Amino acid sequence: MYLIFIGPPGVGKGTQAKRICDHFSIVHLSTGVILRDEISNNSPVGKSAKTFIDVGQLVPDDVLLKMMSGRLAQNDCNNGFCLDGFPRTITQAEGLERILTNLNQSLDAVVSIVADEEELINRLVLRGSTSGRTDDTPEIIRQRLRVYRRQTEPLIEFYEQQNLIKAVEGVGKITEITERILNTLV
Ligand code: AMP
Repeated sequence: MYLIFIGPPGVGKGTQAKRICDHFSIVHLSTGVILRDEISNNSPVGKSAKTFIDVGQLVPDDVLLKMMSGRLAQNDCNNGFCLDGFPRTITQAEGLERILTNLNQSLDAVVSIVADEEELINRLVLRGSTSGRTDDTPEIIRQRLRVYRRQTEPLIEFYEQQNLIKAVEGVGKITEITERILNTLV
């Protein structure tokens, strides 16, 4: 199973992506987690990424595409994967198509999780008090939502044209939302 999860910050994309990966025994690849690891390791990619992440901007496409083309070619991706937070722009989606073609793989579905914007802001502000993430502050959260609408939301139309979108309402109990997602994937 080759899946992508798309959704605004705070929608529970990471939580759900992990649960769905456990269900199908596939690899969970969160670009946010990978980038934060790079930052912790003080690597060149991490140092450059931090300057974008801390102000709520996207890290440049070429950095993401290089990072993900290496990662997706690793053996643990052979049985499937769930991409959480990638692609986030049309350029990244086009790059991903090329990467998958080279690997002889193709996407099964793109799960789009949706929720009301006020709900998202409340959740993220709450998460900010415990996550320790430098980008979970009200001002940066609003910026990340703007970036999502402008740069990432167009991907829904992009994948709609390929008939891959499975839209799921992201409000409710964690277990219920997982069930909704699984029901769209059968
Ligand atoms: P996330 O944990 O998915 O909310 O990602 C946190 C931050 O990492 C984002 O606000 C971006 O700055 C950066 N990031 C994660 N994935 C990508 C991506 N695919 N393209 C560009 N920047 C990304």
